[in-house]
Amino acid sequence: MKIIMLGAPGAGKGTQAKQIAEQYNIPHISTGDIFRENIKNGTPLGAKAKEYMDQGLLVPDELVCDLVVDRIEKDDCSKGFILDGFPRTIPQADALDTALKEKNKQIDYALDIEVPDENIVNRMAGRRSCKECGAIFHLQYNPPKEENKCDVCQGELVLRDDDKAETVKKRLDVYHEQTAPLISHYEKAGVLHEIDGTVDITVVFEEIKKILGA
Ligand code: ADP
Ligand code: ADP
Ligand code: ZN
Repeated sequence: MKIIMLGAPGAGKGTQAKQIAEQYNIPHISTGDIFRENIKNGTPLGAKAKEYMDQGLLVPDELVCDLVVDRIEKDDCSKGFILDGFPRTIPQADALDTALKEKNKQIDYALDIEVPDENIVNRMAGRRSCKECGAIFHLQYNPPKEENKCDVCQGELVLRDDDKAETVKKRLDVYHEQTAPLISHYEKAGVLHEIDGTVDITVVFEEIKKILGA
C-alpha cells in the first residue's frame, strides 16, 4: 500500500500518518522529521534546510527528491509506505511518479486532509512536538498526560520554531501556491480521496480506515 498525505500545514497529516503506519505496518516517512533530525545532528543537509524552514519556505526540490526516492527503495518499503510532507511541489510529484514507474508501480492513495485556513493558526499555536521522538500533541485537542512531557518517551515538548504565527502565515501562502496544485494532479491519476480534517482526530482516522479498507 503506497500512500501520500496531502493537506495544509497543521491539517493533521503527521497525526494520521503515524496511526496509519502502525495499523498497516508500513514505514512512516516524514520529510519534515528527516530535516529536523538532520538539524539536530548538525549535518550539512540540516544547515541548508534550516535556512528555508525558518523562513516558512520550501527546501529546494533538489535537496528533497533524491533523498525520498532513495528512502522508498529500501527493503522496509517493499510492502508499501506512507509519505508525509512529500511531495509538496509538482516537480517533486513528477520525480516520485517517475521513480515508481521505473519499477511498474504507482501511488495507490493520495489522502487530502481538508482544514480551512482560519483553523490552521490555532492548530499551529497549540501544537507541541516531542524534541526526542517527534510525537505530536495539541494543548487543547490532544494534550499530553503530563504537562510538557511526551507520553511516548518522556521527552520535552516544544513549540517548533516555524510554528510561530508570522511563519505560519507564510507557510500557508506557500501551501496554496506550490502544494495545493497537487490535488488535481492526483485527482487526474484517479487516486485522490478528500477527508474532512476539522472533526475529532479519532473520527478522521475512522474515515481513513474506511478508504483504505480495514
Ligand atoms: P507541517 O507538519 O507543518 O506540514 P513539515 O514538518 O512537513 O510541516 O515540514 C516543515 C518544513 O520542512 C516545511 O515548511 C519545509 O520548509 C520543509 N519541508 C518538509 N518537507 C518538504 C518537502 N517535501 N519539500 C520542501 N520542503 C519541505
Ligand atoms: P501536519 O502534519 O499536517 O502539519 P499535525 O498532525 O502535526 O499536522 O497536526 C497539527 C496540530 O493539530 C497538532 O497539534 C495536532 O495534535 C493537532 N490535530 C491534528 N489533527 C487534529 C484534529 N482532527 N482536530 C484537532 N486537532 C488536531
Ligand atoms: Zn517523545
